[in-house]
Amino acid sequence: MSKVVVYRPVDGITLNTEIEYLLNEDDSVMMFDSEEQAKIWLAMQGITEEELFVMTFLESCGTCKRCGGPLFPSLLKKEGYTYQCFTCDEDFYAFEQND
Ligand SMILES: [Zn+2]
Repeated sequence: MSKVVVYRPVDGITLNTEIEYLLNEDDSVMMFDSEEQAKIWLAMQGITEEELFVMTFLESCGTCKRCGGPLFPSLLKKEGYTYQCFTCDEDFYAFEQND
């Protein structure tokens, strides 16, 4: 089953090229079962539509062969890195992941 994470430009300012992920209290990346679930949770936190507008919902695209957790498309501009695992805090080349 796929997971969804949420990110936005730092501080929600669209000119920022750095991004930040929605985190749990322990600083791990927050995961949702669907974009719908994420939006419901955000609405419960009092997120406005304007704040929601700059957020991006990123769906997982595979399984990490190291920890079995969800793999997400890498947002790094570094050449060749295609996937990232938030649990391992690692970026992977395409051939390292399981489909
Ligand atoms: Zn992993």
